[in-house]
Amino acid sequence: MSIISNAQKEQQEKAVTQYDVVIVGAGPYGLSIAAHLLDKGLNVAIFGKPLELWREHMPRGMNLRSHWWATNLSDPKQHYTFKRFLKLKGYSQEHPTPIEHFIEYATWFQQNVVPNVDETYVASIERNNGLYTVNLEDGRVVRTPSVVMAIGVYYFANKPTEYDVLPPELVSHSFEYANFERFKGKHILIVGAGQSGVENAALAYEEGVEVSLLARRPILWLAPDRTDERTLKQKIQAPNAGIAPGWANWALEAFPYLFYRLSQPAKDKYLRTHYNAAASDWLFDRTKDKVHIYEQRTVTQLEPKDGGCDVTLSDGENLHVDHIMLATGYVVNVKKMTMLAPALLEQLRADNGIPQLNPWFETNMPGLYFVGLSSIRGFGPLYRFVVGAKAAAPRVASAIARRAERLK
Ligand SMILES: Cc1cc2nc3c(=O)[nH]c(=O)nc-3n(C[C@H](O)[C@H](O)[C@H](O)COP(=O)(O)OP(=O)(O)OC[C@H]3O[C@@H](n4cnc5c(N)ncnc54)[C@H](O)[C@@H]3O)c2cc1C
Repeated sequence: MSIISNAQKEQQEKAVTQYDVVIVGAGPYGLSIAAHLLDKGLNVAIFGKPLELWREHMPRGMNLRSHWWATNLSDPKQHYTFKRFLKLKGYSQEHPTPIEHFIEYATWFQQNVVPNVDETYVASIERNNGLYTVNLEDGRVVRTPSVVMAIGVYYFANKPTEYDVLPPELVSHSFEYANFERFKGKHILIVGAGQSGVENAALAYEEGVEVSLLARRPILWLAPDRTDERTLKQKIQAPNAGIAPGWANWALEAFPYLFYRLSQPAKDKYLRTHYNAAASDWLFDRTKDKVHIYEQRTVTQLEPKDGGCDVTLSDGENLHVDHIMLATGYVVNVKKMTMLAPALLEQLRADNGIPQLNPWFETNMPGLYFVGLSSIRGFGPLYRFVVGAKAAAPRVASAIARRAERLK
């Protein structure tokens, strides 16, 4: 029997493991990319909590805005589809799809296709001599030539600066909630009337919360979109597509790398003008005459008072609420990703805080890839949604496999 000292033990525990590729994030994109890489026989490490965004940062009882047929994770043989899962479980192919069905589906995908997810968080990533050193929160260290950042909306919650005057107990972001229990019997103001703001308003009201909803513009209600009920004429005018019906959305999905070829100003204009915040039609009756809706107004003054907050709106109306929930979306900024070492951040080419990517989703740092939300300025709106995983996953996986081959 050999005896080792504490120092040696610590050293052993910190032993560096090497992988062909490390994936940071185990959401739909991270899992899909892992599936394609494993199929290519690569030595893959994937870190993060499977479906954490969907389990911990979306409200229970939520329905998906996307159709079930547009919410597939991607495996190379397309064996683990949502359709097959629904059939196996005897669930109906309904729209809207309950979030619980999607979580169950994606967990089934993960357990069958990517069973080796390591739930440890990544603490920091640095680059030395062409290799990335990935330090895990539990002290382990991993080395790899390729890293895929699949961290979704994490780190990017958008909090408009006018709310900085309030302490955290009076203002929070919708990212922080999986239910609204803490507000039962209280009055909250939800700021932002996109899908998340309006759905949170409906769910919070149904959980016994008094809800006011503030929208800068009139709420944009999406037209009903039941695939089975659409007539042939409607389908010709606006074909079914994963993002929403329409020829442009159809083209983005059918030719998923075409958007990349547009000039950056054209891409920026498209993203700015085509995707205004909107809410599904099935939320209309769940909020009408139930939620106090303030459209075409903004907040002009905020003052903490009596444990809550006095709010003055741009038309002069005053409200007193117990809490403000910002459903103001997500803005990518690599500087918020504190896990990237300062030296790496300094060298990473970004424009307006968004990493610049080559046609393989790779940054100017060889072997460092960004997918999902961080990639939409380059690759288009498809990649904001799960539906984009079927195009991103094979593309990123083949680039990494080629790189691994070259480095042999
Ligand atoms: C409220 C809401 C509703 C939505 N509804 C839909 C919908 O109906 N349909 C649709 O297609 N899309 C929807 N989306 C968009 C959705 O975010 C994406 O489609 C999808 O989740 C993106 O997947 P992802 O893998 O990029 O990231 P995410 O699903 O966000 O996963 C991020 C992963 O990163 C991990 N992670 C974070 N930090 C670290 C770290 N330091 N170390 C290791 N791992 C880390 C997390 O644990 C998690 O596993 C919705 C988004 C929101 C916010």
